[in-house]
Amino acid sequence: MNTKNITRVNRGAGAHWVGDGFPVNTMFSYDTQGPEISPFLLLDYAGPANFEPADKPRGVEKHPHRGFETVTIVYQGEVEHSDSAGNSGKVGPGDVQWMTAARGIVHEEMHGRAFTQKGGTLEMIQLWVNLPAKDKMSDPRYQEILSDSIPVVDLPGGGGILRLIAGEYNGIQGAARTVTPVNLWDMRLKSGHKMDLSMPEGHNTSLLVMSGKVVVNGAENLGAKELALFSREGETISLEIQADSVVLLMGGEPIEEPIAGRGPFVMNTNEEIRTAMNDYAYGRF
Ligand code: MN
Repeated sequence: MNTKNITRVNRGAGAHWVGDGFPVNTMFSYDTQGPEISPFLLLDYAGPANFEPADKPRGVEKHPHRGFETVTIVYQGEVEHSDSAGNSGKVGPGDVQWMTAARGIVHEEMHGRAFTQKGGTLEMIQLWVNLPAKDKMSDPRYQEILSDSIPVVDLPGGGGILRLIAGEYNGIQGAARTVTPVNLWDMRLKSGHKMDLSMPEGHNTSLLVMSGKVVVNGAENLGAKELALFSREGETISLEIQADSVVLLMGGEPIEEPIAGRGPFVMNTNEEIRTAMNDYAYGRF
């Protein structure tokens, strides 16, 4: 068995606010770990946080994106999205919105109206997935992936379930269409079980524990808001589940291209970033 070794562990550094709706821990970012996390750029884990009932939805006001995809996975609560082209949608527990911003989208991301009025716990992930240069200026599109349409697979030995958001597991295909090869597995693991999982050789891979306790590769103890990065080499990751856990396992084929990013734009060169800023300033999104 060829193990994917842990190369680094990131621990949540404490939450910062994105808009007034999302207290997030940034679990990885291309700022400092670009080549290790590619094709991903950023992972923000929001909550779990309680919100009192309110009249006016909190969130992030109108902002642009260009050059990549945003993947929003809601675990608890509700997020509503609307964009400049008139698209809108609601993402509830178990649902995923896979937004390919590509050449440009201007949108807002707010708590859902019903959730705002009732109050409650919000817990969600936003993962940024890079696009290769040749796809950065393609047409924007959305995949609204409702919970029901995500394949649920039993893990070996009754150790829990895997919701196959994207990629492949034992010949089963995930719900999302991806531009480059990406695996995104939302797992619910049962205390007392052990299992080996396999991610492709050559792919960057990381594992986020959202809640619970997991020993990875027989050595590293991960608890809530802790994320392990693995070597591209090897395939096998072994897990020993020490408490019922919610875990996100993700990986993909690295995109070996330069990254130039600023705020909501991620391109290949600084010139393309200047163009993006101008295009947005002059209403060309
Ligand atoms: Mn956004």
